[in-house]
Amino acid sequence: MVIRHAPRLPVVSMALSAAGGRTLACRLVADRDQPPFDRSAMDGIATRAADTHPGALLRISGVAAAGVPFMGTMPVGACVRIFTGAVVPSDADTVVPVERISVDNEVASLSASAPVGQHIARQGCETREGAAIVEAGELLTATRLAVAAAFGHAQIQVSRAPRVAIVPTGDELVDVSATPGPGQIRDSNRYALAQIFRQGGAEVVDMPTAADEATALHASLCSALRAADVVVTCGGVSAGDLDLVAPALSELGANILFHKIAIKPGKPLLFATLGEKIVLGLPGNPVSAAVCALLFGLPLLAAMQGRGSPSWQIVRLPLAQGLPAVGARDEIVPLFVTSLAGRMAVSPIATVGSADIFAFSRAQLLGMRPAGQAPLAAGDALDVFLWPTLHP
Ligand code: AMP
Ligand code: MG
Repeated sequence: MVIRHAPRLPVVSMALSAAGGRTLACRLVADRDQPPFDRSAMDGIATRAADTHPGALLRISGVAAAGVPFMGTMPVGACVRIFTGAVVPSDADTVVPVERISVDNEVASLSASAPVGQHIARQGCETREGAAIVEAGELLTATRLAVAAAFGHAQIQVSRAPRVAIVPTGDELVDVSATPGPGQIRDSNRYALAQIFRQGGAEVVDMPTAADEATALHASLCSALRAADVVVTCGGVSAGDLDLVAPALSELGANILFHKIAIKPGKPLLFATLGEKIVLGLPGNPVSAAVCALLFGLPLLAAMQGRGSPSWQIVRLPLAQGLPAVGARDEIVPLFVTSLAGRMAVSPIATVGSADIFAFSRAQLLGMRPAGQAPLAAGDALDVFLWPTLHP
């Protein structure tokens, strides 16, 4: 439902140097073959394979270095000294590495014959001119940036970054720099949520903390809606008298698409639209807030940016340790990576509940178990999220 209601963000043009983490909006095409010429993969000599045999003596008639091609002709029985990345001279059809030759007085002597094509990456063997190299909807990772650069895409079309306003709610919250008074706690969720949404490509707009009071919350939501594409509240969304987020959204005319889902942690999660704007009402408990931001917030941002198939990717991994039966809600399990009989496995993190962000901060992966699942033993398989992940 979240993915289906995600509004598509407009496309903007930007410098490749600033585009890491963005989602490409138009397919990129190779402007030339790659390699663009027959390229030596070794330092050594380039020569004719037919002239190579154990004991062959080949006169060095020139040099081909990276960026400085050999322009002459290579006589029969001769060779050209060559370096990695250099153009293989058109008269040559093999490269003999420096380790297989000895050079004396500008004559190379060979210890073995060399087959045609040895250590030569032929023009176009990696990509042909005109081929698609990065598709629209793909995330610009480190290596895709390199691919775009190799083919001259200095300026590219990407989805605009989603603007996410984070609105923590709660009368008990004080700033990280304050000394908490009686009953007060520091607002820690703001920091986790900002980082999670930034990982999803967002520009985060920090909003003041909203009080547990209807008029104040209404005003906070209005200014957040003006500032951002997505408003992320946290706290005040469960069933208590001071849980004012849902009533405030209703009063604003929001379309609440769901409120409360059968997962643990994360039960109070709310998802609403208001025109083109999205509101994600996250639970206040720190682990619940982080889990919901990851599992619902990141696919939302990915869909808004046109990322192909932004739904969860799950793999099955063996558990290194057993787990008790699951209750009435699907359960999200914080995990660390370990090994079982020499293979990768996962082990649950011991936690004292959905407020225990300290234990949760040691998690490397999240697992998921269906409601009602029987106890699991060591070696049983568990569904583990490959994406979204805690650590990108
Ligand atoms: P709530 O959903 O508002 O009832 O909050 C649930 C629990 O999460 C309460 O113990 C809150 O104090 C705590 N909490 C709410 N917001 C935050 C926050 N921004 N940072 C840390 N803890 C919070
Ligand atoms: Mg609260």
